[in-house]
Amino acid sequence: MPTLAPNPLLDLQPFPSEGYADIVDRLAVLLGTSNDVLLVQGEAIVALEAAATSLGQPGLTAINIVTSPYGHMFGSWLRRAGTTVVDVIAEPGLPVTVDAVRSALDANPDARLLALVHAESASGILNALEQIAALARERGILTVIDAVASVGGHALDTDALGLDVVVIGAQKSLGGSPGLSAISISPAAWSLAGHAAAPTGSILSLLDHRRLWLDTGRGALPGMPSALEFWALRAALERVETEGLPALIARHVRAADATRSSLAALGLTPWVAPDHASNLVTAARLPDHLAASQVLAATGHSSGLSVGVGSIAERLVRLNHTGGNASFEQVLANVVALGGALASLGEQVDIGAAAETVADAYRVNRAS
Ligand SMILES: *Cc1c(COP(=O)(O)O)cnc(C)c1O
Repeated sequence: MPTLAPNPLLDLQPFPSEGYADIVDRLAVLLGTSNDVLLVQGEAIVALEAAATSLGQPGLTAINIVTSPYGHMFGSWLRRAGTTVVDVIAEPGLPVTVDAVRSALDANPDARLLALVHAESASGILNALEQIAALARERGILTVIDAVASVGGHALDTDALGLDVVVIGAQKSLGGSPGLSAISISPAAWSLAGHAAAPTGSILSLLDHRRLWLDTGRGALPGMPSALEFWALRAALERVETEGLPALIARHVRAADATRSSLAALGLTPWVAPDHASNLVTAARLPDHLAASQVLAATGHSSGLSVGVGSIAERLVRLNHTGGNASFEQVLANVVALGGALASLGEQVDIGAAAETVADAYRVNRAS
C-alpha cells in the first residue's frame, strides 16, 4: 500500500451535528427572520426548485414575475406542480414596474402566491421588493422571494416586509461556496406547502425537511451532509459577521457607485437609473455600432466583465462587483479593462479620468 499524503480537502474533521442549528440561526439573522429556516444541500437553484415544487399545486393561481431566466424557470416548476401561473414579464434588462404587478393582481383576484427575484446579477437590476411585497400583503397573498444574489448586497428584511418564503445562497454577495442554500418559511407558507399532493420522499420536499429535521429538534441532518460545504459555509458566515452585514452592503453600494460614475469617461451610460440598479453588477449600455462579444474579446476576456443575458445580450457589458469583487481593486480593473478594449476598437475614451473617478469614490475612508 502506498502511503497516502494528507489532503486538507479530503481529511476533514467531521462537522459537529450541533453545528447545523447554529448555522441556521446565523442565516436567520442575515435574513432578518424568526421564521423556520431550512438548509438545502445543493446550489441555490435546487432550493428554488424545491420551493416551487412543494408550494405549487393544482387549484393554486400564482403571479410569477420574470426579470431573468431564473423567473422563467420558477414559473415552469410551479406549472409542473399543477399551478395556474400568470407570468408578468418585464422589459429586457429592466425591473418589473409596480403598476404591472398591481394590474396582474387586480386581474387575478384568486391568486394566492407571488414569486419575485429581488436583485438580478443576470441584468444588474433591482426589483421594488418593498412596494411589491406591500401589494401582496394588502391582498393576503404569499410571497416567494429569490434573494440568492441580493443577500449581503442589499437590505433584506424578511419579517419586516412579511416575506413568506425566501431563498438564499452563499455564493454571490456573501462570498461563500455554492454547495449549500437556505430557505426561510413562514407559518402561512407551511400551510400552503402542507397540501394533500405535496411531494414527500423527495430531495425537493419541504415537508421532508420539517419531519426529518425541524420536528426532531434540529440535530444531525438526514443523509450524508458534506463536511466540506458546511465548513465552508461556516467560514463564509464568520467572514460576513466579522465585516458586519451593514458594512458588507455598504461595500457593494460603494462598488456600484464607483462603477456607475466612471462610465461617462468611457462614453457609456448605465442601462438603468440608480434606483433600479442592483449593487451586484453594473450593466453598461454600448454604442449601437459595438457588440458586447466584440468588446469582451478585445479585453482578452477579462474575468470581471461579461455580455448580457437574453435578447439584449450584445447591447451591454456587465461589470461584476459582487462579494469579494466588491473591492477597489476589482472595480478599477473592470473599468480599465473595459476602457482599454473600447480604445483598441477606436472609441474615444479617457481611461485616466475613469480610473480617477473610481479612485475618488474610494478616497474617503477607503474600506475595501
Ligand atoms: C445565482 C442565482 C441563482 C442560482 O444560483 P446557482 O448558483 O445557479 O444555483 C438564482 N437566482 C438568482 C437571482 C441568482 O443570481
